[in-house]
Amino acid sequence: MKLLVAVKRVVDYNVNVRSKSDGTGPDIANAKMSMNPFDEVAIEEAVRLKEAGKATEIVAVSMGLKACEETIRTAMAMGADRGILVETDAQLQPLAVAKVLKALVAKEQPQAVLLGKQAIDDDCNQTGQMLAALLGWAQGTFLSKLEVGDGKAIVIREVDGGLETDEIKLPAVLTVDLRLNEPRFVKLPNIMKAKKKPLEVIKPADLGVDVDPRLAYSNFRDPPKRQAGIKVKTVAELVEKLKNEAKVI
Ligand code: AMP
Repeated sequence: MKLLVAVKRVVDYNVNVRSKSDGTGPDIANAKMSMNPFDEVAIEEAVRLKEAGKATEIVAVSMGLKACEETIRTAMAMGADRGILVETDAQLQPLAVAKVLKALVAKEQPQAVLLGKQAIDDDCNQTGQMLAALLGWAQGTFLSKLEVGDGKAIVIREVDGGLETDEIKLPAVLTVDLRLNEPRFVKLPNIMKAKKKPLEVIKPADLGVDVDPRLAYSNFRDPPKRQAGIKVKTVAELVEKLKNEAKVI
């Protein structure tokens, strides 16, 4: 079974992002970039499937600037066999990413596409669902457990009321949640080996995909600063403040 795994280069989760003063976007010019944490979980799961003899090949795919090669190399150091960079400086939105992935599915013919449940920069949580709709494939989203069988997958999903177990037909789109696994630490020899693994670079136009943004962002601003808390002496005072100051009860 061949797996395609989408890995996005995002601002590292430790970075405290601020808006640019003119409100045109987040100021990430010199920010540390890393693989989207949910995508690390997706790669880890793919590698575990390969180690268990259930997957035969793992192709890591990233879309964006040339620097995304770094993210693909990290995925290969974790165990992906090869990589594809769809290089563009366009501002990519989930629909564009889903269209690119659909074109790559036609080219690569995987039995499953693994993605993070969301990218921590745009927090969209849309790409996997859009891809499943475009492909007409089954989808398993927010996975906290995955078992692959003959032509099917049993998935446990995190939903509001608890956990839901579904059996879905392959091929499928699978989006992963953080509790699915703990990604491995990348070791130096594997980083060296990853440098020799094949990495194909193509453009969206090579796949016949138009990635122009469909949405325009009009303004970015930092959230209002939180006020310091206060200590109250009695429950009565607390209730009074919740009623008359916070106006939440
Ligand atoms: P989103 O819908 O933007 O929250 O992203 C969900 C998932 O789609 C991410 O966790 C990635 O697996 C994948 N994805 C989104 N954008 C990209 C990108 N530019 N390159 C590779 N994968 C992406």
